[in-house]
Amino acid sequence: MQAFLERLEQDLARRQQNSLYRAPRIVSSPSGPEMELDGEQLLTFCSNDYLGLANHPDVKKAFVKAANQWGAGSGSAHLVTGHTQLHQQLEEALAAFTGHQRALLFSSGYMANLALLNGLTEKGDHVFQDKLNHASLIDSGRLMDAKMYRYLHADVSSLGRQLATVGSGQKFVVTDGVFSMDGDIAPLREMAFMAQDDDFVLMVDDAHGLGVLGENGRGSMEHFKLGTKQVPVLMGTLGKALGCAGAFIAADEVVIETLIQRARPYIYTTAQPAAMAAATLKALQLAELESWRREHLQTLIKRFSKGARQLGLPLMHSMTPIQPILAGTAVKALSWAEQLRQRQILVTAIRPPTVPDETARLRITFSAAHSESQVDRLLDALARIIKQDVA
Ligand SMILES: *Cc1c(COP(=O)(O)O)cnc(C)c1O
Repeated sequence: MQAFLERLEQDLARRQQNSLYRAPRIVSSPSGPEMELDGEQLLTFCSNDYLGLANHPDVKKAFVKAANQWGAGSGSAHLVTGHTQLHQQLEEALAAFTGHQRALLFSSGYMANLALLNGLTEKGDHVFQDKLNHASLIDSGRLMDAKMYRYLHADVSSLGRQLATVGSGQKFVVTDGVFSMDGDIAPLREMAFMAQDDDFVLMVDDAHGLGVLGENGRGSMEHFKLGTKQVPVLMGTLGKALGCAGAFIAADEVVIETLIQRARPYIYTTAQPAAMAAATLKALQLAELESWRREHLQTLIKRFSKGARQLGLPLMHSMTPIQPILAGTAVKALSWAEQLRQRQILVTAIRPPTVPDETARLRITFSAAHSESQVDRLLDALARIIKQDVA
C-alpha cells in the first residue's frame, strides 16, 4: 500500500509541475453567463448550454412537475421497469426531430458512444475515426472487437488512403459533427459522398451541433442538408444545447433493436429520471421553436470573431459557439485563464491530453444567454492580456 500511495503522489506531483493538474471548482449558482464560483462573482464563457435552456422557466417547470408525479429516480434500467411513458415520448420526439425511424435514450453521451461501437460492430470489422474525435468515441473503439484506425483530423484524403488498405469486413466511419475542442465542423458532405463508393456506414456524434446548427437546430446534418440515408447513425447529447442531461442514438429500427439487445451501456445501467425526460421534451420543443436563440448566438459569435481578428488574437477556424484561442503551451494557456480570472472572467484552459501537445488553448464558448456587451467585456479583457503578453 505504501509503495502504491507513493506512486500516486509522484504522478500527482508531476502533473502539478507540468501545469496539467485539474481540480473541480465549487459552484454556488445556476449555470449561466454570471455565476458564483468559489465565492467569487464571475462572467463565464465555458458552458455548453449553447441555447441558454438549462435555466429556462418552462424546462424547470416540466422537470418539477414530472418529479412530483414520477419521483426523483427511475428505479431501474430501461429493460426492467425504468422506461416510463415520458422516456417513450422523448424517444419518439427525438426520432421525429432527427428524421430517423427510432431513437434510443442513454444516461449520458459517454455511455451512448460506448454503446455505439460495441453494440454495432463485430470482430473482422474496421472502424475509422477522426484523430480528434471525443474521448468517449476513442474509448469505445478501444473496447470493441473490430479494428480501429485513426485518420488525420477532418482530412478526407487521409481517410480515403486508410479505407483503401482494408479488404473484407464491414467498414464504419465515425466522426464528431462539430469538434468539441476546436469548434470546426467535419466535412460530412464529402464523407457522405465517399460512403456511397466505399460502402461504409457513416456515424456522427453531433453533441455540439444539435440545437445549434441548421435553421431548425437539427445540427450538422441540417447544416449540410444531409438526410438519414447519408448519415444512417446519429448520436446526440441532451446535456449541451438542450440544457438537460443524457443522450440518444437515432437510426433505423433494426439498428436500434440491435442496440437494445446488445449494448451493455444501455442494458446494465439505471434509466435517467423520468423528470429529466420531461424537461428534455420541453427543451427540445423550445430549441426547435425559438429560433431567435440560434440567431442571437450567431450574432455573438460574429461579434466575437470580428473583434478577436481585429485584436490579432490567434483564433482557430470556427463558426460555431466554440471559439478557441490557441496558446501553445499549457503554462501560457493557464496564465491567460488566470489573468482573465483576475478580471472576473472565467474561461477554461484546455491542456493535453484533452488536446494534442503544444496546442493548449482557451476554449471560449458562447450561449444565447450572453449579451453583446458581455462579449465586448471579454474582448476588452483579452486585448489587455495579450498586450501585456507582448510587452
Ligand atoms: C460532451 C460530449 C460527449 C459526452 O456526452 P455527455 O452526455 O456529457 O456524457 C460525447 N461526444 C462529444 C463530442 C461531446 O462533446
